[in-house]
Amino acid sequence: MTIKIFNTISKKKEIFQSTQPNSVTMYVCGPTVYSHPHIGNARAALVPDVLFRLLKSKYQNVLYIRNITDVDDKISEAAFKQNKTVYEISNKFIKIYQDNMASLNILEPTLQPKVTDNMLNIIGTIEKILMNGFAYVSDNHVLFDTNKYKNYGELSKRTLDEMIDGARIDIADYKKSPRDFILWKPSDRNQPGWESPWGMGRPGWHIECTSMIKNIIGDDNTLDIHGGGNDLIFPHHENEIAQGSCMSSSKYCNFWFHNGIVLVNKKKMSKSLGNVILLDDLLGQNTPNSIRLALLSAHYRQPLNWSDSTLIESSNLIKKFSILAKSYTGDINSYNNLEEEMISILSDDLNTPEAIKYLSELAKSAKKNQRDLAALIKSADFIGLNLLVSTPHTKNIIDEDLVRSMINERVKARVAGDFKKADKIRDKLLSMGILIKDLEGETVWDYNPDN
Ligand SMILES: [Zn+2]
Repeated sequence: MTIKIFNTISKKKEIFQSTQPNSVTMYVCGPTVYSHPHIGNARAALVPDVLFRLLKSKYQNVLYIRNITDVDDKISEAAFKQNKTVYEISNKFIKIYQDNMASLNILEPTLQPKVTDNMLNIIGTIEKILMNGFAYVSDNHVLFDTNKYKNYGELSKRTLDEMIDGARIDIADYKKSPRDFILWKPSDRNQPGWESPWGMGRPGWHIECTSMIKNIIGDDNTLDIHGGGNDLIFPHHENEIAQGSCMSSSKYCNFWFHNGIVLVNKKKMSKSLGNVILLDDLLGQNTPNSIRLALLSAHYRQPLNWSDSTLIESSNLIKKFSILAKSYTGDINSYNNLEEEMISILSDDLNTPEAIKYLSELAKSAKKNQRDLAALIKSADFIGLNLLVSTPHTKNIIDEDLVRSMINERVKARVAGDFKKADKIRDKLLSMGILIKDLEGETVWDYNPDN
């Protein structure tokens, strides 16, 4: 069975082929470790995690690399503000990131290289680009010479002007063109720095990924899949291609795989709007299964709109699946190929909304059919949802039809202006452990006996 994935560079869904039979290499840009991970970081790790699981079901060897950016001005800034060292900040947030991802049942990548462990390789990569004539040294900086590389813009399909706009130019006078980007920059005494042929300094962001990829797979090998959020297409991945293509004559990467952003109530997450949802907070109030299902509810290439109802819906679905799963008494291994349909759905460009629909269909027939129940448990497990794990919320069985009819009755009472009756129904629901929330145009509910 073949896997089809959308390739950003061709803008087409393509049949995936690896350069080596039975082996796949995949690299995904990992976190810059200076603060607590939010749901956007979770999606950027979870989408490749599902692809990783799918690839592992079909290929003997899957080398999945996700880097850790532990040198960055944002880390230095956080260290300065909190009166800590850069290493204290990065080590703290590496641990939190990895704990958060493990809580969400995101598998550990094969390798997680850190920038600070790769400084000699990074310097070596810059030297190769310089030697091949695609970079220049200016005022203690090393810059990539975009005018020398004729395919610049091939991934993002941007024109020259658009790229200059996109570069949010500091038209620094050490640059020949505003499009040129930094491979190496000088560090002052308060910034982390390493000895280099160009003086004490530190690498630019883009070069670290190219250098770590080439160091692991070999300069003359082509990476099979490169992933990341679609906000990284330009300039980060565009620059990675330029660097990789100018240090080696081999093609840099065959498949470019990008996930969409997470919106909160249809707005972009930002500190200034105060709508950043941190994983630590979310994990304190919800089961990992519910968060995972909610994050997979939209197709990975689409933006995911996060709202209260996203989580409530997925949490209700998980409860339903889990109650069914726990009623299973047979030996799950007595059936073959239980995951076949799930694998086939995911093989079509990682169609997780369709996968969730399939789980719901299985849940309908699972009440009467043991094989379908076993398939529900196995298929959910394939996308990292462990239905057999104990959660305090699934002990009691909820009569969903009764809840729905009570909610409808309450809506009618409200429309008729009978608020006394509406409140009475709400209190009755509350006594059953059902929390309701009136959103625009609909009432959603959640089961939480602790409240
Ligand atoms: Zn990267």
